[in-house]
Amino acid sequence: MVEIEIIQGDITKLAVDAIVNAANCSLLGGGGVDGAIHRAAGPELLQACIPLNGCETGKAKITPGFRLPAKFVIHTPGPIYRDGLHGEPELLESCYKSCLDLAEENGCETVAFPAISCGVYGYPWEAATEIAIRTVDKYPAKCLKKVVFCCFGEQMLKVYRDAYRK
Ligand code: ADP
Repeated sequence: MVEIEIIQGDITKLAVDAIVNAANCSLLGGGGVDGAIHRAAGPELLQACIPLNGCETGKAKITPGFRLPAKFVIHTPGPIYRDGLHGEPELLESCYKSCLDLAEENGCETVAFPAISCGVYGYPWEAATEIAIRTVDKYPAKCLKKVVFCCFGEQMLKVYRDAYRK
């Protein structure tokens, strides 16, 4: 089983094997955590993303971390939340699973996730957090030892801590 750590902080500062980027389908950068990751990694990250030709919602693609302390960035476009009846839970679960698969394939022992879809994509925090924790918890890890949920702000930290206790 994977160890779960819940922290408050800026994911771009974490010296883990891979950080996850809540990207959009173009993989060409955006706002929120995506913008922060591209700024911190440097322009090489965009150059590495261009030939990937985008990514479908719920899937994931990997690049080096360039100027980041993390070795890799795993890019995953989360679902845009409508009403929860358009496959959003399955797609969000698939994001976490696809990222964990890529982390394993690349020999990562430590991976940090932001709260995918919980910013401009509008996913209700409690529901998204429950999916994040459950998907990591039941993941059949081989090489992966630790997953960090990196919460941006105190409120998100509380939501994760409450969900983890349940
Ligand atoms: P999405 O489009 O998937 O909703 P956002 O980037 O808008 O992605 O938000 C995803 C989450 O990432 C939000 O909870 C937001 O507060 C958080 N976030 C923004 N910047 C950072 C950062 N530097 N480190 C960690 N999390 C961040």
